[in-house]
Amino acid sequence: MTICCCIVPEYLLKTIVEKGKTPQHVIHACQSTLENSKHLQSSRVEAIVSAQRQSPSEAEEREAALSTLAYDAKHRTVARPTHQLNRTVYDSQNSRDDPPPRDKIAIKEGGALISEAEDPTKNANECYIGLKKTYDFFFKFFQRNSINSRGMPLDSFVHFGVHFNNAFWNGSSPISLVFGDGDGILFNGFTDELDVMAHEYTHGVVQYTSPLNYTFQSGSLNESLADVFATMSNWLIGEGIWTAGVNGSALRDMKNPGTAYDDDRIGKDNQLAHWKDFKKLDISLDNGGGMLGKSIGSIWYKALTGGKLGRDATFKEFADLIIKNAGKHGDEIKEAWELVGYPFPDSKSEL
Ligand SMILES: [Zn+2]
Repeated sequence: MTICCCIVPEYLLKTIVEKGKTPQHVIHACQSTLENSKHLQSSRVEAIVSAQRQSPSEAEEREAALSTLAYDAKHRTVARPTHQLNRTVYDSQNSRDDPPPRDKIAIKEGGALISEAEDPTKNANECYIGLKKTYDFFFKFFQRNSINSRGMPLDSFVHFGVHFNNAFWNGSSPISLVFGDGDGILFNGFTDELDVMAHEYTHGVVQYTSPLNYTFQSGSLNESLADVFATMSNWLIGEGIWTAGVNGSALRDMKNPGTAYDDDRIGKDNQLAHWKDFKKLDISLDNGGGMLGKSIGSIWYKALTGGKLGRDATFKEFADLIIKNAGKHGDEIKEAWELVGYPFPDSKSEL
């Protein structure tokens, strides 16, 4: 179960605040983004507890999707999907409300892009176009009709908050992808990076295809899955996210972990490349970040959607599943996992 994923991890925003080497409005933007993330996380926990008590329609729909998935995986009767792209991009008008207001539609499916005079940032247009590319990627390669594979409308929000330094999948009803404008000094807007869109979209797919909890190892696995599917469009996660003055190429570099940025104001990329470093993190806070960069799309997708992943799956269990699903390529896949520390400890208490 997803709680809420923000593409920019908390530790990075905290480092910028602690270093204090940027203009006050940037520090303030990072602080308010952090506060907002905490609010979102706590409201998601409340929503999950409430959903478990009341079993609302969203939870029922998800359970139905998971049960269909398990049946399909067992009986191999997946029908050819229909193409039902249905995008709506809302303008949050700098509101930080949760959920964001829906009173101003920027672009609706089939509508015209908006003029530069109306939105000089182009965020709404970028978001509308990026949603199609992401939808088409999952449809073309995995025959997936939207996030829930049942044509779920893709609602997204641009201009969320003021100088909001993040983008996130809200993980709760009404399901949405939300994008901030960035502070303009360190962070650009978040809508023109397709891998950011793909990362958040994948969180939605994970939510509808597996019961993975968003805590500890299963939370980190959730993050890694989002990065891996985003990596299929680009090795660099968040390429273009930094403004021109920042010494950085992206938020994470999946090919060369730990080399995405190194800047006095932000700190140095500390993305993990090997399991041995994993336990050093406070997993409960940042879910370990995206650790793994080795991927073969269809094998990963099959592992994700095959109905075999448990609620609190470990990296070891997931890697075993991937190796098993790889068939004749199993040995090659195992070697790739060994590069990042496989076999990992199997105990869920190893953290
Ligand atoms: Zn994420």
